[in-house]
Amino acid sequence: MIEEEFDAIVVGAGMSGNAAAYTMASQGLTVLQLERGEYPGSKNVQGAIMYADMLEQIIPDFRDDAPLERHLVEQRFWVMDDTSHTGMQYRSDDFNEAKPNRYTIIRAQFDKWFSRKVRQAGATVLCETTVTELVRNASGKVIGVRTDRAGGPIYADVVVLAEGVNGLLGTRAGLRKMPKPESVALAVKEMHFLPDEVIEQRFGLQGDEGCVIEAAGTISRSMAGLAFLYTNKESISLGIGCLVSDFAQTMESPYVLLDNFKNHASIRPLIAGSEVKEYSAHLIPEGGYKAIPQLFGDGWVAVGDAAQLNNAIHREGSNLAMTSGRIAGEAIIEIKGRNQPMIRRNLALYKTMLDKSFVVKDLMKYKDMPALIHTNSRNFFMTYPQLMSQAAQNFMRVDGTPKIEKEKATTAAFIKARSRWGLISDVVRLALAWR
Ligand SMILES: Cc1cc2nc3c(=O)[nH]c(=O)nc-3n(C[C@H](O)[C@H](O)[C@H](O)COP(=O)(O)OP(=O)(O)OC[C@H]3O[C@@H](n4cnc5c(N)ncnc54)[C@H](O)[C@@H]3O)c2cc1C
Repeated sequence: MIEEEFDAIVVGAGMSGNAAAYTMASQGLTVLQLERGEYPGSKNVQGAIMYADMLEQIIPDFRDDAPLERHLVEQRFWVMDDTSHTGMQYRSDDFNEAKPNRYTIIRAQFDKWFSRKVRQAGATVLCETTVTELVRNASGKVIGVRTDRAGGPIYADVVVLAEGVNGLLGTRAGLRKMPKPESVALAVKEMHFLPDEVIEQRFGLQGDEGCVIEAAGTISRSMAGLAFLYTNKESISLGIGCLVSDFAQTMESPYVLLDNFKNHASIRPLIAGSEVKEYSAHLIPEGGYKAIPQLFGDGWVAVGDAAQLNNAIHREGSNLAMTSGRIAGEAIIEIKGRNQPMIRRNLALYKTMLDKSFVVKDLMKYKDMPALIHTNSRNFFMTYPQLMSQAAQNFMRVDGTPKIEKEKATTAAFIKARSRWGLISDVVRLALAWR
């Protein structure tokens, strides 16, 4: 086992760990990255949309060799009831730009590529190595780690915790609490394989163009949750996730929800004839700003999902992970450059820098949304989707009923379901949380 002492040890080779390790190694710091998976990406689950701008800030020429699937030209938002969907979609040829803004990726391939860049930047990367414990000195400062490999502790000036949403290391060391069940969603995902020309024809795509669908409604059985369908080159990823606390309360099964989503009349034709090759389940931090734990301490910083940095409202996670990893790396480089010790007071620089970034600003903006949606999930995920569908159908069905009566029927259905004051209060609370 490695005996050396490093400038930094990074625990985890996901988006945040790779960003941190790459940033530090490329600036000449000695970096050891430890990953419990057989290879980087083997344990990681994502939809997956990758946001180019955040990767470009780390590896500007990533488009030259990164394994990218499709660049997104179209996004559909669907509100579903059991038989219908009411949709909004945005498609633009502007997204067929020289440097597209969003791509679908397959994490198992993408993380391997990112890890290769980390190694080329000079970091030592060890897979199949689980960090079991943080090592502290007499004053409590984290000074290294122990792993499940033979040998003693490995020392470093600072440890970057990039161990993902349910990282046990930080929890066991008392640096953060286990995320609460109402702050994490459990998502299940499948990969459906189809020839590329079939995908292109079904979604109206050409070449590497891609389309994604985000859907909410009765598919989550009144739990706070979302479903997604993303087009890759020769596969479609689709999945659904709901809050763990809601699963515990309702005893619904994630597999049943996924089956229902796949068999919905609006989804079934899109995946017809596909071969299912992969199934995975993973947690997503969804507590927002108020769930962010302590981000730094003596000898350590936490980044990405391990720091609960995930914007569930906009379904962004990997970009917050990459950005927090990069910023942690930059803060560590700066502290080292000043020859200062990696103690709490100095590592506060990481939080100062993160607070100025879109990561914290975005989470701050929607800080009241998670609680609002979670506590009113029956209205937002069952009642309103059903009412929207009824209203749309009432509008479209031509059956000789005078329009004035149709409008009255729609208004009456909303008021019966929620009462006038209930409706007004939901709209006001939503507007306040969104402002
Ligand atoms: C179903 C699903 C769909 C998603 N879709 C999207 C999307 O479309 N776009 C988006 O931006 N985000 C999406 N996300 C969120 C995104 O996947 C995460 O925000 C992102 O992966 C966080 O990166 P990370 O590096 O912090 O954590 P992870 O990617 O979870 O990486 C953590 C790594 O640490 C390793 N590890 C853990 N403990 C140890 C240990 N003790 N020792 C060594 N290694 C350890 C793990 O094996 C893992 O490789 C999705 C998430 C899910 C579950």
